[in-house]
Amino acid sequence: MRQKVIAGNWKMFKTVSDAQELVRELKDKVQHIVKTKIILCPPATNLTIVNSLLADSNIKLGAQNLFWEPEGAFTGEISAPMIVSTGAQYVIIGHSERRQYFAESDDTVNMKIKSALKHGLNPILCVGEMLEQREAGITEQVVKGQLTGALAGITADDMENIIIAYEPVWAIGTGKTATPQQAEEVHAFIRKLIAELYQDSTAHRIIIQYGGSVKPDNAAELLGQPDIDGALVGGACLQAESFSAIIAAAEEQQNI
Ligand code: PEP
Repeated sequence: MRQKVIAGNWKMFKTVSDAQELVRELKDKVQHIVKTKIILCPPATNLTIVNSLLADSNIKLGAQNLFWEPEGAFTGEISAPMIVSTGAQYVIIGHSERRQYFAESDDTVNMKIKSALKHGLNPILCVGEMLEQREAGITEQVVKGQLTGALAGITADDMENIIIAYEPVWAIGTGKTATPQQAEEVHAFIRKLIAELYQDSTAHRIIIQYGGSVKPDNAAELLGQPDIDGALVGGACLQAESFSAIIAAAEEQQNI
């Protein structure tokens, strides 16, 4: 059985003092969680302080983005070694907001994944179709293109350190969730594709999270699907109450 992994993407929310308050509250609410992996992905400005607050906790740390060069004259960017130096172990790559507003392509996503892996970070690779693409019946084609592009040159060994997050763009921050059946269909497709690109064992082990308006009231049903191994949560991770309720739903699934 694969471990459930719940990651919180804070996006561009929370000042340093807001971050401290949220982490203190959350730590308290999830201290009894033992089976679920919990990852917080705050803005880069909060990585160091959040890392120090997470010492001796059951919560891991991740960043939201990186630039593929290790250092250099790239104003405003942060690199994999810089993220590693904060104590973070994960990094979200290819989030739809980065693709949409910052022109990230499958090629740049691929370069970012390679840089993350080279420096020992675990990528959370986001893929997902837009509403028009779903309506045109090309969801699988889009997701396949994103995955094959992002994973070009990535070995089966590397895949052990990658998490995939399926996030239909039309469900992100909109309150519209894919039904558990719609999500499961794409997750099963992704797992099959990973088996074709690598091996059955890689496909069997890889964690595939669902993201898109996951809330306490829909988490259990989504996480109960056979190929949904966790959630990448945006809006609902900004309050300890709602994020811990989603984590509790994941923990519960593993007690069944
Ligand atoms: C996300 O940011 O990855 C996300 C899924 O956001 P939300 O949960 O708000 O839809």
